[in-house]
Amino acid sequence: MEPKLERIDTPDFEEVYKVTEKESGLIAIIAIHSTVMGPACGGVRLYHYDSFDSALTDVLKLAEGMTYKTLSSGVKLGGGKSVIIWDTNKPVPEKLLQAFAKAVNQLNGRYFTAEDVGISLDNLLVIKQTTPYTLGVETDLDNKTPSPFTAWGTFRSIQSVLYKLNYSNSFENKTVAIQGLGKVGSIIAELLFWHGAHLIVTDSDKEKVRFITKRFKAQAVLPDQIYSVPCDVFSPCAMGGSLNLKTIPQLRCKAVAGCANNQLATPECGQLLKQRNILYAPDFIANAGGLINISFEASENGYDPKLARKSVHQIYDKLLKIYTLAEQQNSTTSETAMNIAHETLNQAKSLLLK
Ligand code: NAD
Repeated sequence: MEPKLERIDTPDFEEVYKVTEKESGLIAIIAIHSTVMGPACGGVRLYHYDSFDSALTDVLKLAEGMTYKTLSSGVKLGGGKSVIIWDTNKPVPEKLLQAFAKAVNQLNGRYFTAEDVGISLDNLLVIKQTTPYTLGVETDLDNKTPSPFTAWGTFRSIQSVLYKLNYSNSFENKTVAIQGLGKVGSIIAELLFWHGAHLIVTDSDKEKVRFITKRFKAQAVLPDQIYSVPCDVFSPCAMGGSLNLKTIPQLRCKAVAGCANNQLATPECGQLLKQRNILYAPDFIANAGGLINISFEASENGYDPKLARKSVHQIYDKLLKIYTLAEQQNSTTSETAMNIAHETLNQAKSLLLK
C-alpha cells in the first residue's frame, strides 16, 4: 500500500507532510525547509514523541537547522528532515521503514534521507532498498556513514574552543563532559581519550556508560548531574534543547561544543551563555561533518574520503572566524553564525530571481 501524504501548510517552509500508512502503523512527518541550494537533505529520526505536535515542532526546528548547516558548510544541498513517531522500546519492523521510504519516493528527489537518532545503519539499508533518495549508507567498499565524520568535525570544534580560550589545542589537564554516548558521542569520547583528555560521561543507557567508563577510565555521572560537573568543555551529544533556562545556570564549564542538533532551547539561550562567559560553538557548524561527507557522495568525480576529511577538518577554522566576528560585533556566536547563513541564503535567492 502506498503511504498517504497530507500537506501541512507551514510559513517559511517549502513543503511539510504528515505521512501515514495503516498496514505498517507508520505516522511520520517530512519537512522540506529550503531547496534553494539543492535538494533538501536531512536524516530521519525515529523517536517516541508525546504527541504529534511535539514531533512537528521537533522536525520543523531540525529541518530549518539543516538549511543553516548546508549553507554554513557550502554544500550544494538544502535543508529538510523527517521523523517517525514510534515507541522506541519496540522493534522497528521492516515494513514501517519501507512505508517511510515509499513516502520519500513520492517527493521525487526533492528530499534525501539519511540516518539520525533511533535509526541504525541496518534500518537505513532497508530504506535504501526502497528509495534511491537515501544518503550516507555504508557498504563494504566505502565509508559514507556520517557518524565518524560528524565526530571528527565535533572533535575539531572542541579543539577550536580550547584554542580560542587557551591559545593551545592541547588536552593536557583538560576535562570534557560528554552528554550522550551514541553513534557520535562514543567516537568523540575515543578521539578525546587518544588526545589525552579526562572524560566525564553520561547517557540514559547505563550499558553505554559502563562500556566507555571501563574503556577510557572515564568518570560516570547520572544524566541530570552532567550540567554541574566542573569541566573545561561541556559536549552535548544527545537530544536537542539541552541548553535551556534551567541547565545553563548550572554549567561549570568554560565552553560548549557538541554534536547534538538544536542545542539551544531558544535563541535567547545563546545570550545567556555569553552573559555567563561560556564560549559556544554553534551546533550547526560543529556537527556538520557527516553532512559534508554525505555531500561528497554526489561529487562528479566519485566519492573520495580524503577530500571529505579535508573539508570536515576546516570546521575548526570556520569556528575561529565566527568567534572573532562575534567579538567584533559584540554578538553571540550563534547569532553571528545564523546571520552569515541568512545572508548566504538571501544572496542565493536573489541570484535565482535574476
Ligand atoms: P544516537 O541515538 O546514536 O545517540 C544518542 C545518545 O543519547 C543515546 O545513546 C541515548 O541513550 C542518549 N541520550 C538520549 N537522551 C539522553 C539524556 N537526556 N541524557 C543522556 N543521554 C541521553 O544518536 P547520534 O547519531 O549519536 O546523534 C547524537 C546527536 O547528534 C543527535 O542530536 C543528532 O541529531 C546529532 N547529529 C548526529 C549526526 C550523525 O552523523 N549521526 C550528525 C549531526 C547531528
